[in-house]
Amino acid sequence: MKKYFIQVFVTTLLISGCQSRYYTMDDFGSVLKIDSHVHIRSADSSFEKQAEDDNFLLITLNVDHGDSADIRIQQDFAALSAERFPGRVFFGPTFFFDTAGWGAEEWSRRVTDQLEKDMNAKGVITVKIWKNIGMTVRDRSGKFIMADDPELDPVVEFIKARGLPITGHLGEPRNCWLPLDQMTVSSDSNYFAEHPEYHMFLHTEYPSYEDQIKARDNLLAKHPDLKFIGCHLGSLEWNVDSLAKRLDRFPNMVVDMSARICHLQYQTAQGRKRIRDFCIKYQDKLLYGTDAGYSGSNNPDRFKNGMHETWIDDWKYFTTDDEMTSDKFHRKFTGLKLPKEVVDKIYSQNAIKWYKLDIN
Ligand SMILES: [Zn+2]
Repeated sequence: MKKYFIQVFVTTLLISGCQSRYYTMDDFGSVLKIDSHVHIRSADSSFEKQAEDDNFLLITLNVDHGDSADIRIQQDFAALSAERFPGRVFFGPTFFFDTAGWGAEEWSRRVTDQLEKDMNAKGVITVKIWKNIGMTVRDRSGKFIMADDPELDPVVEFIKARGLPITGHLGEPRNCWLPLDQMTVSSDSNYFAEHPEYHMFLHTEYPSYEDQIKARDNLLAKHPDLKFIGCHLGSLEWNVDSLAKRLDRFPNMVVDMSARICHLQYQTAQGRKRIRDFCIKYQDKLLYGTDAGYSGSNNPDRFKNGMHETWIDDWKYFTTDDEMTSDKFHRKFTGLKLPKEVVDKIYSQNAIKWYKLDIN
C-alpha cells in the first residue's frame, strides 16, 4: 500500500515536471520579450513605459512613406527613445528614395552618406527598406524599381559592410491582389478599403504578387551573405509551406510576424498541427512583433492598455492551448502551446541574435 502511494507521488512529480516544459499566462511578466517591429513617433515615452511594465524590449523601424522631412522626424523620435531607454529601445533608420539621379553613381552616394550619419545614433541595429520599392518608385521610363535592381547593390553592400542586417517590408499580403470580399482577414480588407492606392487588385498595370516575391528572392540570391529580416512573415503570410521554402533556400533570411499573427491563427483554425509543427521546425527563424505604432495621444493610458492586451493575447496564442477567437475572422482556433525553448527563441533570442542586440 505504502509503495502504491510512493508511485502515485512520483508519477505526480513527473507530470508536473512535464508541465514545466510550457509557460503559462502567469509567466508573461517574468519572461523577457522583444517586440521586434514597432513604430514610435512620440517623445512622451508611453510606449516605452508599457514595455517596461510588461518586460518587453522594442525595435522601432522608420519608414519611407515618400516624405523626406518625415523621415528626419522619425529619425529624431527613434534616436531620442533609444537614447533615453538604452538597452530597451533599438531602431532601424531608413533612407528617402528620391529618384533624382537614379542610374548614376551619385544616387547611391547620397543615400549612403545620409545613412552613415543616421547610423551614428545610439541603438541603431538595422536599416529598414519598404514596399515603396516595388510598388511606388519608378525610373524615368516609368518602369517600377524592384528590390533586385542592380542600382541598389551599392546601398546593400554599404549596409553589409557596416555589419548591419536589412529589415525589409517588400510586397504586400497576397490578399492585396484579391477583391475585398475574398480577403481572408478583416485587417487586410479594412486596410485596403481605406488605401485603394495600395490595393493591387485595382491596379493590374502594377507588378504582380509573384513579381514582388521574385524580386525579393532575387535580392537574397544575389547577396547570400546579407542578413535579412523579412517583415510581416516575408509577405508569405498566407501559406507556411511557401514561407518554409524560402527559409530553407535562404539561410540568412528570417521573418518577423508583425501584423500577420492573425494569418497564422487563420491557418491554425484550418489545421493546428501544421502551424505548430512549422513554428517548431523554424523556431530559429521567427521573430515576434506587432507593428504597433504610437504617435502620442491625449489618452496615453488607453494606448498602454491596448498594447498590454495585444501582447497578452499573443502570449496566450503561443503558450497555451486555450480555445481562442479573433476579431479578424470568424473561426475558432486553439493556442499553439509551444515548448518554452521555442517561445524563448521567438520572443527574444532570435531578435538578440539576428539584430546583435546589446541588452546589458
Ligand atoms: Zn511596420
